[in-house]
Amino acid sequence: MCDHGDTILVGVKISADLSHSGEAYWKRTKIDRCIAPLVNALQEAQIDMRGSCCGHGQGIGDIHLQDGRLLLILPPDASDAWMAMGAAERPDILGALRP
Ligand SMILES: [Zn+2]
Repeated sequence: MCDHGDTILVGVKISADLSHSGEAYWKRTKIDRCIAPLVNALQEAQIDMRGSCCGHGQGIGDIHLQDGRLLLILPPDASDAWMAMGAAERPDILGALRP
């Protein structure tokens, strides 16, 4: 995970509902360095997104997709632990988030 402010410019689509003009447009914007290649690949695949943060080693990062889904970014040690767990052992993230 990179530090706050360690960014790379990536061309991203700003969706119409996030645009001040009401029209979708493309712009180059600062993306956290460690997830910039992933964000770039999503954009090249025309997978629209609303925002992203790597978590900067302080917590779980995320890439918020335009369709409402959320990709969670875990640091490698947490990712390894998650993958080593059986489904029944994994924390119930959905249960914790749903009202
Ligand atoms: Zn990072």
